[in-house]
Amino acid sequence: MYKKLFIPGPTHVRQEILDAQTAPMIGHRAPEYAELQGEIRPKLQKLLYTEQPVFIYASSGTGVMEGSIRQAVRPGKRALVTVCGAFSDRWYQIAVANGVPTDRVDVAWGEGVTPEVVDEALSRGDYDALTVTFNETSTGVMNPLGEIAALVREKYPETVLLVDAVSGMAGAKIPFDAWGLDVVLASTQKCFALPPGLAVAAVSERMLARAAEVPNRGYYFDFLNMLKYYKKDQTPATPAISLIRALNQQLDDIMAEGLEARWARHLEMAETVRTWARKHFALFPDERFLSNTVTTVKNTRGISVADLNKALGERGAMISNGYGKQLREKTFRIAHMGDLTVADIQWLLGLIDDILGLA
Ligand SMILES: *Cc1c(COP(=O)(O)O)cnc(C)c1O
Repeated sequence: MYKKLFIPGPTHVRQEILDAQTAPMIGHRAPEYAELQGEIRPKLQKLLYTEQPVFIYASSGTGVMEGSIRQAVRPGKRALVTVCGAFSDRWYQIAVANGVPTDRVDVAWGEGVTPEVVDEALSRGDYDALTVTFNETSTGVMNPLGEIAALVREKYPETVLLVDAVSGMAGAKIPFDAWGLDVVLASTQKCFALPPGLAVAAVSERMLARAAEVPNRGYYFDFLNMLKYYKKDQTPATPAISLIRALNQQLDDIMAEGLEARWARHLEMAETVRTWARKHFALFPDERFLSNTVTTVKNTRGISVADLNKALGERGAMISNGYGKQLREKTFRIAHMGDLTVADIQWLLGLIDDILGLA
């Protein structure tokens, strides 16, 4: 049976978007392709409130995380990774796996990374790069990215700010230029509500200048090479043309909805889930850092989340268990991102009420 996905990726994909992938194939060096990428270019920039380039990769988001961190740190310098859950921890693992000298600063799971924590940690070293996970999908925390960015731009002008916005971009406002961010990356199977397989990354001039000073930038994600092709509305390697068609369609639909309306819809879905969760369970994260795109609910009733999800599956819906050993069964997650509506959320919560006998 088809299940509507209330999981934090892949998310529910509308039929029109699935259909957009079926157009006949074109050559990626043919003018038709450049035309397609040229249509997408200003729309992605609008989505991120930026005049900087927004690159498109055939990759999941993790690939661009790897590409970013290795291009951000000059020989002899270090990266600082902020960790508040499983996905922010991935930045650390990636940095170490690439031989990038890296320190980490951890906050308790469920807490947000504050500017104070960042300031204290950055003041202790000579850091070329700082990583922040905008929306920590394991704990349901949305970090105060604007405040962190303001601090970094004011006190640490040499430090490039790399942002994993995989589960936030296209679901919450990220004014790339106004905040002075350097890389903001996402994959498209979350708030973009596209099938998996594409990643996008906005890249600042400061980051491009930094990359030019890094000798072993890697090949596939090399921002300078990407820029060269971007100027021709192409990519160095073969792009995922069918997915890019779906992206073009989806960006049209996003613009038709209106960006402010899109952010407001995500917040309204989040508020609906939060109100329900406070009534029947409890929220896992600190109230100051609640995510607008995914809610992590503390399993205060000791229900079997696996059984709940099975029963939901029989009714055509799916949520997520808690992430990893630490949070499985102790929490569960309801994603409210992409093209889901408040009515979808109400339908889901009604099903859960019914299954658990909550009135
Ligand atoms: C899903 C997710 C990732 C991983 O993205 P992939 O596209 O699977 O590589 C990274 N970070 C966050 C915050 C995520 O939610």
